[in-house]
Order: sequence, then structure tokens, then C-alpha cells
Amino acid sequence: MPILGLSKSTMHAYFPAPMIKLTLLFGFLASIGLWAQDGAASDVPVVPPLEVPVIPDDGVRVAVLGYHDFSANLPETAMRIRTSKFRKQMETIRQLGITVISLADFVAWKKGDKKIPDQSLLLTFDDGWKSVYTDALPVLREFNYPYTLYLYKNYVDGGGKALTIPMIQQMVKEGATLGSHSISHPYPLTVKKFRNKGEDAYDAFLRKEMGESKRFLEAKFATKVTTYAYPGGYFTPEMLPIGKEFGYTHFFTVLPGKVKRSTPDESGGRHRRYRANHSLSGGSRTGRDHQLATPRHFRQPQECR
Ligand SMILES: [Zn+2]
Repeated sequence: MPILGLSKSTMHAYFPAPMIKLTLLFGFLASIGLWAQDGAASDVPVVPPLEVPVIPDDGVRVAVLGYHDFSANLPETAMRIRTSKFRKQMETIRQLGITVISLADFVAWKKGDKKIPDQSLLLTFDDGWKSVYTDALPVLREFNYPYTLYLYKNYVDGGGKALTIPMIQQMVKEGATLGSHSISHPYPLTVKKFRNKGEDAYDAFLRKEMGESKRFLEAKFATKVTTYAYPGGYFTPEMLPIGKEFGYTHFFTVLPGKVKRSTPDESGGRHRRYRANHSLSGGSRTGRDHQLATPRHFRQPQECR
């Protein structure tokens, strides 16, 4: 029987049988090829290529859902979902036997330190909308699901529809994980503007957005922040090294894909962070799904609105 207008076969498509992906291998072979060409063109001894650790696929697939705003009765938008629908989605996850894992377990699994169920799911909430507290939290408590908030500093306690500091503190107290979503939530045009100002200006801009946001959240909420969600999913090649310098270990963007163990974090994982309205309802896959980004993909920055 369809649940939420979603047949079982849809869910099977959603969690396909494990299959071996050769993307990394191709990427690896391509880099070897390039290196060999470079070597052939010069008599200078070449440094051997870095060994890429082969991580066997354990068959686990993690769907990462990204939510923003909630409302009991306002019309749904790309950013807003009805609270009742959200609750049904959470119920469906339970009925299907999918395990909602914490970000800590996700990271431990990626590192190979922990096993997680084959069908796991990560719940994330971006920006810091007040309705996460008023609408989503009661549901999350009901199902006892762990979750992560990606907050950007300028919207924390920003008045209106923004989460207040006491609300965030309460959620952290109850076990919520915090991730950074920058200082000002710059959209591609702003990022490009700073990038065009030259290397130093862009570097300073990125250090502020990525570094200060992490320091702010860690100091304000006495917690550790190790992951970063690119605002709008937009990123450029300069962001990753700076992010890593500040201690981020995982970066989320909005490209199609799904998290698997065999995708090294450093070389090409594109992991879907399903959008609320498109994932469990079996809707279209737009490029707007959030994902875990890794360096290789920085060569082709993806733009999302
Ligand atoms: Zn955002």
C-alpha cells in the first residue's frame, strides 16, 4: 500500500541494491594518466602519486534530508513544508525500518570507526528557522530522531522567524548537533563579487564566513562544529582548503548523489541531502538536493539557487 503516495518500489529505487561505482576508480586512473604524461615530458624525477586508500563498499546507503521552514497551514514552497507532512515523513521512515542516525555516527561510519544500518538517514535543518523549534522539534522528540542544525551567524537570534539563542541552547541540550552555514549566507553573486576582488580579498572573505561562523557557534553553544553546509550549495575550489584548515571534516552541498562508505571524503563523494519536498514524496530529482561535497567536484562548482 502506498505510504504518502509512495509505493514500496519507489522506496526501493530510493535505496537501490548496493552496486559498485567506478567513478572513483576512473578518477584515480585519470589522475595516474595525467601524472604519467607529466613524468614523460620531463627528466626531473617525479614524486609518486599519493596512494588512494580503497575503501570497500559495505552496502550502506545514507540519505541526507535537508529541511528549512515548517508551517501548519501556510502553502508549501521550496523552503517550507507542512508540519503534518513532515510528521508523516518521519513516520514513514520508521515504518520502512530506516534508521535515523546522528551526525556523529555518520562521521564515525565514514571514518570506518562504526557500523551503521544499511538503510540509514541523516536529518538536517538549514538556516535556523524558528519553526524548527515550534513545529519540527515536537515531532523529532516523538520519534526520538537525532538531527543537525546548520546555522548561519547573522540569522541566529535574528528576530522574526529566526531561532532564538535559548531555543538553540535547548535543542543542543537535548542532543542536537550544530553545523556551520556561514556568517552571512552569501549567494553565488556575492561570492563571485569577492572572488573578483582578488586573492587576498577573497581569502579574507572565506576565512570570515567559514572560520568565524565556526568559532561563533562553538563559543556560543559550547559544542564542536566539524561540518559545513555551503549556503545555496554553492562552492568554489578555494573553500575546501580553508574549511579544512579550520577543522571541518565534511562539507555539504546540493548535488545529486547518496552517501556510501566507499566514497572517500577527499576524492569525489557527491552525497544527496534530499530536499524535504522531493525525497520522500518521490518527486523529481532537481539538482537542489543537498550533498556532501569533496575536492574533486570543486573543479566543477555547482550552482544552486
Ligand atoms: Zn541556507
